[in-house]
Amino acid sequence: MGKPTGFLEYERKDAPAESVKSRIKHFNEFHTPLSMEQQQLQGARCMECGVPFCQSGMMIGGSASGCPLNNLVPEWNDLIYRNNWEQAYYRLHKTNNFPEFTSRVCPALCEAACTCNLNGKPVTCKANEYGIIENAYDCGYAKPKIPSVRTGKKIAVIGSGPSGLAAADQLNQRGHEVTVFEREDRVGGLLMYGIPNMKLEKQVIERKIEVMKAEGVQFKTKKDIGKNVKADKILKEYDRVILACGASNPRDIKAPGREANGIHFAVDFLKSTTRSLLDTGLEEGTYISAKGKHVVVIGGGDTGNDCVGTSIRHGCASITQLEMMPKPPVTRAENNPWPQWPRILKTDYGQEEAIGVFGEDPRVYQTTVKEFLADEAGNLRAVKLVKLEAKMDEATHRMQMVEIEGSEYEIPAELVLIAAGFLGSESYVTEAFGVKVNARTNVATEAGRFATNVPNVFTAGDMHRGQSLVVWAIREGRDVAREVDESLMGYTNL
Ligand SMILES: Cc1cc2nc3c(=O)[nH]c(=O)nc-3n(C[C@H](O)[C@H](O)[C@H](O)COP(=O)(O)OP(=O)(O)OC[C@H]3O[C@@H](n4cnc5c(N)ncnc54)[C@H](O)[C@@H]3O)c2cc1C
Ligand code: SF4
Ligand code: SF4
Repeated sequence: MGKPTGFLEYERKDAPAESVKSRIKHFNEFHTPLSMEQQQLQGARCMECGVPFCQSGMMIGGSASGCPLNNLVPEWNDLIYRNNWEQAYYRLHKTNNFPEFTSRVCPALCEAACTCNLNGKPVTCKANEYGIIENAYDCGYAKPKIPSVRTGKKIAVIGSGPSGLAAADQLNQRGHEVTVFEREDRVGGLLMYGIPNMKLEKQVIERKIEVMKAEGVQFKTKKDIGKNVKADKILKEYDRVILACGASNPRDIKAPGREANGIHFAVDFLKSTTRSLLDTGLEEGTYISAKGKHVVVIGGGDTGNDCVGTSIRHGCASITQLEMMPKPPVTRAENNPWPQWPRILKTDYGQEEAIGVFGEDPRVYQTTVKEFLADEAGNLRAVKLVKLEAKMDEATHRMQMVEIEGSEYEIPAELVLIAAGFLGSESYVTEAFGVKVNARTNVATEAGRFATNVPNVFTAGDMHRGQSLVVWAIREGRDVAREVDESLMGYTNL
């Protein structure tokens, strides 16, 4: 333990965020990282606990507590305190292929589980991770590492999201010849065309892809496997195939009036902004715009929050974010103690910005859309909302949110963004490969395994576990790589 009294001597210090008024004028990341000296002191706050919950990634109380990648958090916290940033990078990279992504977008399960929560504020593990990886690029430690041996085995990874990329990285380092196929024009999956630029600037993805290309991974974009490239061709040409196509089937809202113009899925909205931003700096104006519109976002989660932040940057007239469930408590409930993931009210960057611009939290709880109302030309003009209450369903003995009679009201809306989650994999690709899906339309495998019912075809990421997080996608990518490697070589050292 580097600094036994560090947690007593130093306060937690977060990277300062640009003011709301200033940051909504652009789409760039908006935190100013601490200096290395300041970050070192944050590393000193780590107690290197005997039982480091931060890195455990255990399921406690129905959700994961600690890092799902089992990142060696106490080790690299200590190493940065000792000013050994290079070694810290090697220890971080040992378990995490993409700290440049997780240190920007991860909800930091490590910090929620940190023991320092019991007596104050958690260690800034996520910002420490950011400092380590950015310093590694600056100092050249994160440069390409070319595998010295090649096995001659060919692997196709379908989908270039974090799970596909992690699998590709692992298997390439093992010496296999890996090709990543992506149907979009750019690589990265939801890192590229889901998560907005202000959370993850896209040159950060491109920087890593360049490293992977130099290491030997091949990328083929605009290849929609199962549509413009036949699955049979892939199966014939490659020794193993990994399906990592995400859970890209969005959940719809089937209220009357759904056909009105101006109702979009969140990812289509976010993708159109990012694509336009990258192609022309939003100059060509073909993206779905919220400018001057009353916007209603259906879904109170992180994707909904990204829609709020993006709509505000477009210059929307107002923003409302609907959430069916009750407002969570501000502090942990008694039945949700540390080190469980805290089920508490979180005000994310988009909601902060809505408060800064419009003076109020955009979230409306226990409310859903009852009807979409269009004008004579078929354009959306308003939504009819209805309040909900929790009631026990006698048949299933489960709590359900049900409509409160007579509680309907109307609000103006020219743009509705549906951020109600995802239903699982898309059938054209699962059918093309003949892989079985489970009741949630995720690709079916034995529990904890990644092989599908089709020989030599494996799966990982959201397509396998359902809609999740980047950190879990990387974990699945690493795990599927191990299973694929073992199936090819008879053993694995991954
Ligand atoms: C708007 C939004 C914001 C999010 N924000 C966060 C966040 O802040 N933090 C976090 O941890 N998680 C976040 N997530 C969740 C996270 O992005 C996903 O869990 C993660 O990206 C899943 O990774 P994946 O590799 O399994 O799939 P994806 O990232 O979905 O990638 C799948 C890729 O496969 C491609 N593909 C699909 N079918 C084919 C085919 N037939 N042929 C070729 N290519 C194909 C797709 O085009 C896509 O590029 C967010 C999700 C959304 C939608
Ligand atoms: S990947 Fe996420 S949970 Fe793991 S150490 Fe990094 S920020 Fe924490
Ligand atoms: S739980 Fe917190 S204090 Fe303990 S080792 Fe992990 S980061 Fe350090």
